[in-house]
Amino acid sequence: MDQAWVKARVIGGVAGALAAAMGLAVMLGWHLNLPALVRVTPSFSPMAYNAALALFLAGIGLLAAGFRWSRVSLLIGGAVALVGALHLAEYVLGVDLGIDELLMPAYLPKETRFPGRMALHMAIALIALGSALVVMARPVASRRPLLPGLLGAVVAALGLGTLTSYAIGLQTASTWSNYPFMGFNAALGLSVTSVGVIGLAWQQGKQEKTGTPHWFPVLVAAAGIVVSLVLWQALENQQHAHIDRTVQAEADNLRQDLAARIEQQVRGIEDLGRQWESQGHPRQADWEWDALLPFDYSFVKLAAWVDPSLHVRWVVPGRGNAAYQDLDLGANEGIRSTLEHAQALRRPQTSSLFRLPTGERGFLIARAVFPGDRADGFVACFFLLNPLCSSAFRPGSQTRYALTVLEDGQETYGYRMRGVAYDDAWSAESAAELCGARWTVRVSPPRDVIQELSTKLPGVFLVLSLLPAFLLALAVHLAQTSQLRGTQLAAANLELKAEVVERQRAQEELRKQAELLDLTHDSIILRDLHGRTTFWNRGAEEQYGWKQEEVLGQVTHTLLQTKFPISLEELQQKLRDEGRWEGELTHRTRGGGEIVVASRHVVQRDRDGTPLAILEINNDITERRRAEEDLKRHVEELARSNAELEQFAYVASHDLQEPLRMVASYTQLLARRYRDRLDSTAEEFIDYAVDGARRMQNLINDLLTYSRVGTRGKEFAPTDCGKVLETAIANLQTAIEENGAAVAQDPLPIVMADDSQMLQLLQNLVANAVKFHGAEPPAVHVSARRQAKDWLFAVRDNGIGIDSAHQQRIFTIFQRLHGKAEYPGTGIGLAICKKIVERHGGRIWVESQAGNGSTFHFTIPA
Ligand code: ADP
Repeated sequence: MDQAWVKARVIGGVAGALAAAMGLAVMLGWHLNLPALVRVTPSFSPMAYNAALALFLAGIGLLAAGFRWSRVSLLIGGAVALVGALHLAEYVLGVDLGIDELLMPAYLPKETRFPGRMALHMAIALIALGSALVVMARPVASRRPLLPGLLGAVVAALGLGTLTSYAIGLQTASTWSNYPFMGFNAALGLSVTSVGVIGLAWQQGKQEKTGTPHWFPVLVAAAGIVVSLVLWQALENQQHAHIDRTVQAEADNLRQDLAARIEQQVRGIEDLGRQWESQGHPRQADWEWDALLPFDYSFVKLAAWVDPSLHVRWVVPGRGNAAYQDLDLGANEGIRSTLEHAQALRRPQTSSLFRLPTGERGFLIARAVFPGDRADGFVACFFLLNPLCSSAFRPGSQTRYALTVLEDGQETYGYRMRGVAYDDAWSAESAAELCGARWTVRVSPPRDVIQELSTKLPGVFLVLSLLPAFLLALAVHLAQTSQLRGTQLAAANLELKAEVVERQRAQEELRKQAELLDLTHDSIILRDLHGRTTFWNRGAEEQYGWKQEEVLGQVTHTLLQTKFPISLEELQQKLRDEGRWEGELTHRTRGGGEIVVASRHVVQRDRDGTPLAILEINNDITERRRAEEDLKRHVEELARSNAELEQFAYVASHDLQEPLRMVASYTQLLARRYRDRLDSTAEEFIDYAVDGARRMQNLINDLLTYSRVGTRGKEFAPTDCGKVLETAIANLQTAIEENGAAVAQDPLPIVMADDSQMLQLLQNLVANAVKFHGAEPPAVHVSARRQAKDWLFAVRDNGIGIDSAHQQRIFTIFQRLHGKAEYPGTGIGLAICKKIVERHGGRIWVESQAGNGSTFHFTIPA
């Protein structure tokens, strides 16, 4: 088990288990309604249920990748990426696929347009995470460690970036406006999984030479990007805060303005009330005079005294306000309760908005008066809403903000300048409590104000800080490449050195081995791959006459003027292909003589099979060649003289016949003519002469036959030996009958032969078998059997047999073992047989014991 595998298991296992546990915890939190598990603290965003499920799955996938259960991590990776892709599609295409709350209703909402949907960043991170799992699950050979490392860096950037924004309180900056924000626990889970992915990818990529995976620069770039993004977010946020403060200040100003105006009127009401209480019930004209002064009638419709029965009695200014005279305020539920409150609290109270009898929208502020602890009605002011609110724009102030006034959260007044675009996303609110009424002022800045307030600084900063991140990554990459080159170079150098050492050692070893070869008489030569002699044994020194020191480094075949039976190129090709070559070479020695050697060439290789040298062993066969050639010459001469001899014998025997016939016939003529005139001794002499002449004739005939075997033979043709034997028996019929012989035969083969010579052969052997019989009548048996490449024939008899001392001799011409009187014959028969058999490429011999019959064997090639 290699170390990387163990480490991969630990990294994948720990990160995977952690992530899965975190995902599971959040899912449980949703199911068991435990908000602490879902969003950590109430101020953080909740982690979406789908995101938790995907995180759980991704954790299992990482675990599987660590243990190299490729199929599991492949499947899970695909599923996780799909979940991410579906949510991304929802954002990008602006559609709701109905998956956000499919598994769990989002009961922990954070103000968002998409309840239950996972954050956009989470969806992107899940795609990267799933893809990384899929890529890592592929077979080792087709894997590219760069890709999972890169995807891991993306996950890390998204996770750690979000964590950082939580840490420095920049939540809004981490996602686009109004989109759900990634939960703290989701960010933590992503960070953990990214550590797992990067760790696994690192292990996968670490086999490379530099010790760091080659996607390390990507990681550096990713880290740089995260840092840049975080700082950029901080700047953005600062700018946002500035805008927020500006808008807020505007809202506060307006609210203060509004409040100040109203409070001024309230002070007037208070003064009137106090005056009433100190001086007692005034005269109507005096009061009306007093009531004219304190109020700003541009937005105060009227000041009034309301009697204890809640009817309006005195009205200032009277003109245009006749409708208010004797108005029964008790009829309006809201106003009545306001008045009652004012009386009970002895403080001015503000009513809610109502429609004035003159048609405008407005409200009143009333103070109860108690001259001498007796309730004497109210001093009240009726306010006109619209003029009041528009007065908040200070004369001359050029504010172009949209203004909205809310009472108890209800919009009561709105002002927007026509033709101005407002940015409601930046609106700010300011609340005020005005004599029991809760008013809120909301302002929205015009777009161009926001533009004025925004600077390009964060963007410029982002670009400027990303640039060094990439430059740094590039620098790391370059450093890594040069380091890799260096390592490769060093490794190659080492390898080269080792190779040189190994080669030297191997050659030295070869040389030592070769020295042993000095003991042989063969010449043993070692030469390198360029043909230069590197070793030359003592045998070579003796054979060629050069000492080893003289020939080392010289090209061997040039030195020896080698004559090759094939071209040098062919020989080298054969050595390359087969590793060896054998053949005869002609060399020239130092003394200038030519010698023929039987040469063997063998390629010597090192342990890896790389050719090192060629070993050449030469055995001087000049003498043997000479002897062979002499022998050949003798054989040729012998054949020629034999042929001549045969020709001579033929001519001689042929030409001798004529004078012999004359000698014989004239001797016989002499005997017949002069029979009566010659005495008995003379007749006996004539008989001898005639007999001698006849015998000589027989001898010459046989001799002629003998010489014809070599010179007058026919072409070989398929010959049926069975038929041939039958002819021979027929020819010998008289001798067979006379001797009472029995000739038996086995089936005989068909062979390629000269049929008349086959007839002569078999006839001679059978005739001898019949002729040399003992006391028994002759029994002859002819057979043949196949052995290897020949037919083996046998002619067996039960005759007198042949002593082993003579068994060779009888095949020689004129050799007989018996006198003519005993057995007639010339002694040529077996010599003819031998010649015929040899002409057919066979052998003939006899197996016999004296007195025990003989078996003549001969072979004919099948
Ligand atoms: P020839 O028959 O004319 O004497 P051959 O050359 O045929 O001459 O035989 C040589 C000698 O070999 C014979 O004289 C005889 O002594 C011996 N020989 C040949 N065939 C037989 C045989 N079948 N049995 C005994 N001896 C034989």
